[in-house]
Amino acid sequence: MKRLGFGFMRLPLIDPDDPTSINKEELKELIDIYMKNGFNYFDTAHVYHKGVSEKIIKELIVDKYPRDEYIIADKLPIFNINSKDQMETIFQEQLDRLGVNYIDYYMIHNASTRHQEKIDKFQAYEFIKHLKDKGYVKHIGISCHDGPEFIEETLKKHPEIEFIQLQINYLDWNNKTIDAKGCYDVACKYEKPVIVMEPIKGGTLINVPDDVKKLFKSTNPDKSLASWALDFDLNLDNVFMILSGMNTKKQLEDNIHTTETFKKLTQKQLDIIKKAAKLIGRSHEIPCTFCGYCLDGCPEHINIPKYFDLYNTNKILENNHAIMYYENYTSDHPKPSACIECGNCMEICPQRINIIEQLKNVTKTFN
Ligand code: SF4
Ligand code: SF4
Repeated sequence: MKRLGFGFMRLPLIDPDDPTSINKEELKELIDIYMKNGFNYFDTAHVYHKGVSEKIIKELIVDKYPRDEYIIADKLPIFNINSKDQMETIFQEQLDRLGVNYIDYYMIHNASTRHQEKIDKFQAYEFIKHLKDKGYVKHIGISCHDGPEFIEETLKKHPEIEFIQLQINYLDWNNKTIDAKGCYDVACKYEKPVIVMEPIKGGTLINVPDDVKKLFKSTNPDKSLASWALDFDLNLDNVFMILSGMNTKKQLEDNIHTTETFKKLTQKQLDIIKKAAKLIGRSHEIPCTFCGYCLDGCPEHINIPKYFDLYNTNKILENNHAIMYYENYTSDHPKPSACIECGNCMEICPQRINIIEQLKNVTKTFN
């Protein structure tokens, strides 16, 4: 299987403020190029683009290509489940939206300590195992943003888990909160193949400070920043799929080229990546990946990831452009100071960011 998966979490949009306004024409072209090059893995979830991500797979892939020519990965949104029966209802809805009668890779979405009570109460593992036994899904697993201890405990208790989807990129590899290396090591210990999500950390690894750009360019002037990030994950032997959200033809072609021409990294290349991670780490104070999960539940409609992006950008840029963006944006959108500290966003944030405190920092910085 070719190791570049098409992530359907951040699709090209017509209106950047409307996650359901997917630009079908652009996406169709990208999918066709991707398939023509022999790639065929599509990753979606019940919640992506408010459900439109699954529907668009039906329209642009399922209705066009024979079922055995593509692979679909989808997820059970355990965080939105409030009864055992609801799992069945949602799964059926997913099959209907996708227009298929089986899903290739099905996982519990964001399995974590925070959702363990629900997982146990509604017997989520028994449910996905039952789906596999009945032939509705081919492989079962988890997507996880928790730490190595949680993963160890889960894999020990549930040998039926066949694979695990983890956030792995060179910036999070030695990060104390994410501990991507620790998570990967546990997956290897239990011989569970890994699907990588966020290889470019929601775009963070292509919006790097100038000294990092110089470092990479001086090593190889023709290599893109994204390809350094993908190479880091391709270099991990236990990784069988790397998901990338690809919004433009240029990005897609670059990712295809990187995957097709990948060669094991040398120690010198690994040292350069390590050095880059250190430099970025200094400026990337808030580890937001712009997944947008926190947006729906905010009663004050605060665009949390937007403010975190501006905050981090402000640390990188030496000019004052981020401040100008902040002033323009807050003139007609709720400010970070509108936060009433309800905590809804912190419940759901997979990066475990102290959003309430960080919003205060954003206000302090820009004011
Ligand atoms: S804590 Fe603040 S930012 Fe988070 S959901 Fe509540 S109001 Fe919105
Ligand atoms: S704050 Fe957390 S939930 Fe919100 S976009 Fe960033 S990473 Fe996602």
